[in-house]
This record gives sequence, C-alpha cells and structure tokens, in this order.
Amino acid sequence: MSPKNTSNETSRAPAPLKVGFVSLGCPKNLVDSEVMMGLLAQAGAELTPSADKADVIVVNTCSFIASAQQESVDTVLEMARHKASGQAKRLVVAGCLVERFRNEIQKNIPEVDAVVGTGELAKILGAAGLAGVPAEANGPFTILNSRPEGNHRRQHGRFDRDSWDGAIAELPNYLYDDDTPRVLATPRYSAYIKIAEGCDHPCSFCIIPQLRGLFRSRRFESVIAEAERLAKSGVREITLIGQDTTCYGEDLGLKNGLALLLEKLAGIEDLRWIRFLYAYPNKITGRLLETIASHDKVCSYIDVPLQHASPTVLKRMKRGGGADLFLRSIERMRRVIPDVTLRTSFIVGFPGETEKEFEELCDFVREAEFDWMGTFAYSDQEGAGAFDLANKLSGHEIEGRRKELMSIQKKIGRVRKKSLVGREFDLLLMGSSDETALLLEGRTAMHAPEIDGKVFVNNCPEGIDPREGEFYRCRIVEAHDYDLVAEIV
Ligand code: SF4
Repeated sequence: MSPKNTSNETSRAPAPLKVGFVSLGCPKNLVDSEVMMGLLAQAGAELTPSADKADVIVVNTCSFIASAQQESVDTVLEMARHKASGQAKRLVVAGCLVERFRNEIQKNIPEVDAVVGTGELAKILGAAGLAGVPAEANGPFTILNSRPEGNHRRQHGRFDRDSWDGAIAELPNYLYDDDTPRVLATPRYSAYIKIAEGCDHPCSFCIIPQLRGLFRSRRFESVIAEAERLAKSGVREITLIGQDTTCYGEDLGLKNGLALLLEKLAGIEDLRWIRFLYAYPNKITGRLLETIASHDKVCSYIDVPLQHASPTVLKRMKRGGGADLFLRSIERMRRVIPDVTLRTSFIVGFPGETEKEFEELCDFVREAEFDWMGTFAYSDQEGAGAFDLANKLSGHEIEGRRKELMSIQKKIGRVRKKSLVGREFDLLLMGSSDETALLLEGRTAMHAPEIDGKVFVNNCPEGIDPREGEFYRCRIVEAHDYDLVAEIV
C-alpha cells in the first residue's frame, strides 16, 4: 500500500509575494532602493527583475530637476500600463517625487496604490501589501543631532514646503543603520555606503534639503560595521555617498569626521578601493587631503561640484567662492595629492547669467583643467530660491552655452587622457564590454562607478584568465575623448 498523501492545495505555503523594483536617479536613491528591497526580502518577499512577473512594482523616483521629474513620471506611467496588462496587483511610487508631489501623484495616476517618501522607507512593507508587519517596522527613526547651520537655516525657512501639494509637515529624518537589511543592486565586488543624508546648505537652485531633510550623519561605528560586513561578503570597492560627505560627523560633534572614517576604512584588510562623493568646496581640509595622499586604498579622486566660477553668479546661487579661490584650492589639491583625479559639475544658464559671467566660467574651465566635468542646464524648481529671480535665460540660450562649455572640456579631457598613454594602473575588471563581446572593460581608481568613462581591455598575456571583480595591472595603450584602451601586463 502506498503511503497516504496528506498534502493538498490548501495546506501549501502561499507563494511569496514577487516585487519588481525600478530605481531612478542617483546612487543615494539606489541605496534607498537597496534598503527597501532588503526590508521586503527579510519580510519574505521575492525580488524579481521582470515587471511582467511582479505582483508589486515599486518605482523609486528622482525629483532633482525637471528632466528627472519627467523621467520619473514616464516610468510610473509605463509601470501603470504593466499593471493594467500584466499580473501586478499593486504599484508603489517611492522617493523624491513623492516628497514633492505626494497628492498630485495619487490624484492624477489612479493606478498608484501607495506612496512612500524618502523618510518612510520601512513603510514599503505595508505599501507592498505585506501582512503581519509590526507597527514599529514603520519607525520611528530618531535623529537626535543637527548642525547649528541647519537649525539656523530651518528657522529662516530653508526647509519650508508648506506650499507643496500634500507634503507632510514632518521633514524626512530616516537614516539606515548597519543592521538594516540591504540587497545590493551593484556588482558583488562594489557597493555604496550612505554615510549621511539630507543637506543644510543654502544653494538657491536646489530643493534637495526640502526633499531629504536636515543634514544628518550615520554613527561612525555603524559605517565601519557595514563596511566590514560588505568586505567579508566579497566587496572590494566602497563608495561613500551623501549630499555632502565632507560635512560628515559635524552633527555628531566629530572634527575631521570624513578623514577619520577614511583612515579607519583603509584598515579593513579585504577592501581595495575607498572613495567618497561629493565634496563641498570650502570643506576640503588639509587633513582630508593628507589622508587621501597617505593611504593607498583611498582613491586619489575628488568630486567637487563647483556649480559656477563667477563670484557674482555664485553669490546669487548662495554658495560663495569664485575662480581665484577655486584655482588656489585646486593647486593645493594637486600639490598634496600629485596624482589626484578631479571631477566637477557646473550649472549653466543660472538666472541673470551674463555673457561676461559665462566667459568667466569658460576661462576658469580652461585654466583648471579638470579630468572629468559634467554640466547641467539650469532648471527652474518651484520652492527653490532661484525660482523667483528675474532675467531667466531661454532654453535655447542655455543649451548653446552648455554645449560651448562641454566642447572646451572635451579638448582638455582629450589632452589629459593622451598623457596617460604608456602609464600603468590597477584596473578593476568588470567583465565583457557592453559595446562589443570582443573586449573586456574595467575601471581604474580614476573612474568612479557609473559616472566616468571606461577602460576597454584589448590584450591579456597568455596564462592569465581575467575574471570579473578581480584587480589587474594594466598599461594604457590608447586614449579617446572619454574612454581609454589598455592591455593587462
Ligand atoms: S550642497 Fe547645495 S546643491 Fe548640493 S544638495 Fe546641498 S543644497 Fe543642493
């Protein structure tokens, strides 16, 4: 007699909820997605890369500038169509767009079932429809410290968003910790660590402080514990991120917080490269430069978004500084760290930008000779100080200036890259090239993940079997406008 089969349809465990994620915007947003994915996975959900197979689709949005908002809305609408035609039962919108347009999203896109702001990451569980989630999973997340500058600016309205449709009164104050679950969306050998969130600076073109809240740092020990865990799991490259990493620790009463953090991280044996994004110009201290210069594992790479070089534009941007001051600071960076790679970004066409002010910027770019440079066309943001400024430039004018500035940098970049031919560098191999299967591709310490150009590898000595995620010594053999070609030596 065969044993009696006691199982039946109804006694089987229910299939796990399948959740698909689309993460837009910057690496800071990506870390938020990784935290939400970690919380969902811990609660029993299964993550799927396919929107067609997902029961729940989450779009983590960006609201940095108008084009990013448009991309976010387009993606939400595309996922709403998936929901209408596929198996998805719920559509969740998360991130910066929610902080900016909370009510409008829900009013105008009825397919959206729930929204999750940047300070409410644990609410993803309820938003995805997971049952049995304890109430405390949604917070509270207590931020005890803040910088005096932040408190002062708050009193003077820097963080006000009363006029935004549906913005909740409470500013986002969430910060993840080393014991918060995270599912990495980056290759296994590289990870971001968010060391701080929010921003206290008064830049008049920017609404990130209203979207992300007051500047707040993660605990020093929490960052180290997370880095150690990541290193144990195979991560070799850590990129520390925050709106302004150079303020790290000020709210905790730490002096030279970022330098101390880099020193400690450099002691983690399994890590090979450590870098940070982004630096605020007047926060780059001698101590920070010396720390970069004296630790091989800390990449000689500084990304300092300067936004402009004309002192009058910078004053209207509420940032301060100017070409002369920046050139002196760059000279100091190059003196202390002779092989430093410098990246910056500029906003072109800020309200009232005259021909003369734009020329000051062009002259500065010619003189500073950055390795990498990004340009943004000024984009009007309701709620930003610059929104009310007079003398706005036309889109046509702004685009013309943006292209002119890029063409200046293109020539500089070409010369700087040509000077690398024949030199040797360590290369992190990332696998077959996306552009042709005949080549491999990788990055050197001069290339931050997903931001700068690439290094194509066209030759490798016999007997070496190049493997993704491993480091190789390489020699640069060709230089193009953005990318390099190298051979493994
Ligand atoms: S430093 Fe300025 S531009 Fe950068 S996030 Fe803060 S306010 Fe925005």
